[in-house]
Amino acid sequence: MSASVRRFVAVLIVIAGAVLLWLAGRSTGDAATAKNERDAVLEQAHDRDPRLKGSYRIERGGWVYVHLEGDPAEIGFQHGYLLAPEIEDAFPAVTNSMMHSTKRDWPFFREAARTMLWPKIDPEYQQELQGIAAGLNMRTGSNLDVYDIVAFNAFEELPDYYVPWLNKHEKAANAPNLKSPGNCSAFVATGSWTKDGQIVIAHNNWTSYMNGERWRIIFDIKPAKGYRMLMDGFPGVIVSDDDFGINSDGLMVTETTITQFEGWDPNGIAEFVRARKALQYAGTIDEYTKIMLDGNNGGYANDWLLGDRKNGEIAQLELGLKAYKLWRTKDGVYAGSNWARDPKVIKEDAREFDPKNMETSPNARRARWEELLDQNKGKIDVTLAQQMLGDHVDSFQKKSEANERVLCGHVDTSERGVAIWAWGPNYPGGAVQGKAADSTMAKQMRLVARMGHPCGEDFIAKPFLAAHPDYAWQEPYLRDMKAGPWTEFRAGEIPATSR
Ligand SMILES: [Zn+2]
Repeated sequence: MSASVRRFVAVLIVIAGAVLLWLAGRSTGDAATAKNERDAVLEQAHDRDPRLKGSYRIERGGWVYVHLEGDPAEIGFQHGYLLAPEIEDAFPAVTNSMMHSTKRDWPFFREAARTMLWPKIDPEYQQELQGIAAGLNMRTGSNLDVYDIVAFNAFEELPDYYVPWLNKHEKAANAPNLKSPGNCSAFVATGSWTKDGQIVIAHNNWTSYMNGERWRIIFDIKPAKGYRMLMDGFPGVIVSDDDFGINSDGLMVTETTITQFEGWDPNGIAEFVRARKALQYAGTIDEYTKIMLDGNNGGYANDWLLGDRKNGEIAQLELGLKAYKLWRTKDGVYAGSNWARDPKVIKEDAREFDPKNMETSPNARRARWEELLDQNKGKIDVTLAQQMLGDHVDSFQKKSEANERVLCGHVDTSERGVAIWAWGPNYPGGAVQGKAADSTMAKQMRLVARMGHPCGEDFIAKPFLAAHPDYAWQEPYLRDMKAGPWTEFRAGEIPATSR
């Protein structure tokens, strides 16, 4: 070895030592510094990748607000990238819940997504779903692919609609007790019912707390085609899904699910696709109805409550699979709390539902809605709607109590649970967040939203799990659900000129 080579090797050893020392210092160094460095790298990626142009996220009142804009692939990419931490957090919670209730593994759901749902998804939503997987992958290196994302988007329809249908079809032995969910309390009012004669719409989302505490996204989507949308939603999912949204042509949309609905059409179009398409492309109640009926697969069957701020008209679209019914008026109110009311829909699509049993959650809340809305006829506005969403009057027991029969549901406190939804005693579920808007707000693309129980009470996971070991399987995912403040959001929180 020549002297120069020896000198070179010595220099290399010194450099290597210095690098090792630096790395050791880093590993014991401040975690916040590493996080800042990572964020800086992400920001650079943000600046570099043209697909992220125009998009941003902000956090307020316990919500994560994202603005997405562009063509379908760009909107999807921005969604996956900006909400990657929330998607990676929600994916295991939701998918474990799907597998737990159905006793089916994840490849089963992926296969249903790939072979049954995917071929019927419009190309623009296929591109958006692919974009979500791509954005997520770029941000975190996640190996979730588009079929994982599609099955995840169908979390409200595959486990509780497709699987029971399949079990029946296959005459599966020991099939688990699966029931379509009873999600939400809502109303839409207009004319002489509201303070200003225009539309007021309000909704609280009922779901398991495990899912509901993650239902904290506000999406402001400005698509290349169709109307601009402002809606609440779930990370990684292209539709509001609980549902609450307004579009720039004046449509105001919410729903509650139909209790004890049964049915599925494997040749239909996924509900999450039709509902997203309807919010994006419908300017009227008729157009909304047409899109929801086109390829109806029976998944996540809802009573849709609609408003058109352009003419003050509201509607209720009770969308069964074999039957449906549309009611509409310019002077009235429609409420929802998971009951079907059209005799034909009940007979053909929700045969087991008993509209006369006033002890059940849907019917007890129906009675309370009627009472509360009647009492406030002519006074209804967004402030009053917020109070109504947090109402704790049990119409069956005729007393105030936070339980499974009140508009602001707290099923965790009830030993009765809700058997007709297969929610056992003290099921950790109920009202998880609320939203409201009126015609003026819809025109300005604004809404108010509150995370957590709309009444403002907190749910604390640790003592609940200690008292109810039946739900120990949720321990890795169930966390505290603390109520945030009522918070206003509008489309274009950060104007394009200042970005
Ligand atoms: Zn409450």
